Amino acid sequence: MGGRVADSGLQTSLPLLGVDDPAVFTVHNPHGTSPFVLLADHAGQRVPAALNELGLAQTELDRHIGWDIGIAGTTRALAQRLDAWAIEQTYSRLLIDCNRPLVSPTLIPEVSDGTAIPGNIGLSDAQREQRIAAIHAPYHAHINAELDRRRDASIPTLLVMMHSFTPAMNGFQRPWHAGVLYHQDTRFAHALLQALRDEGDLVVGDNQPYSVNTHSDYAVPVHGEARGLVHVELEIRQDLIADAAGQQAWAERLERLFRTLQTSLLQR
Ligand SMILES: [Zn+2]
Repeated sequence: MGGRVADSGLQTSLPLLGVDDPAVFTVHNPHGTSPFVLLADHAGQRVPAALNELGLAQTELDRHIGWDIGIAGTTRALAQRLDAWAIEQTYSRLLIDCNRPLVSPTLIPEVSDGTAIPGNIGLSDAQREQRIAAIHAPYHAHINAELDRRRDASIPTLLVMMHSFTPAMNGFQRPWHAGVLYHQDTRFAHALLQALRDEGDLVVGDNQPYSVNTHSDYAVPVHGEARGLVHVELEIRQDLIADAAGQQAWAERLERLFRTLQTSLLQR
């Protein structure tokens, strides 16, 4: 479907999420015993009914621009194997990107990988605030509450930001099977990078296909670095986790590596 989404006055006078829209996030293993905590900011591809798919065809929301393909299933499988607390965010990254600081120009993108997003063009400040208040704020508030609870109860936390990346971008075929991303704190990242490379069958990116910085990223600087938590951002190539078999294989591999690294990571 094309065209503008809705009259702006009408849109801001109604709540963004209606009674039939799903919850902003799902928590898996709320009483998990693992020190690992998994965050999946881009797990979902939903759009609130009031926003009419942002004026996009479902095929666009199904592309990598709409969500991190495969990461929801991978995160769930890994959380189950580790008995780890995990959270997945339900709504499309095109609605609002929960791994962007609020000041980022791509928080609510007007264009993504060549696709114009009709429902994001010309938003008022009130419409932007509505997206932040409905999605970004409660999602991160819930993560903050869990991380506070663990700190107050002296429960150790090893934080993993789960993402996936598209195999080709701007005509470039990305050679990596996975990427380990970090900013200034390399404790978890360098250990995981080495462990993945030691697997022998993987090409692993070192801050590739993306690097992390405080202007373009939210979870690493805010939930990881600002709290002093041992953390890493992991990117898995989407064709490797597009189906359940691939998701299980990666969950099995990551469980094995995480369990091997756990003791030394808890001492860092
Ligand atoms: Zn992502």
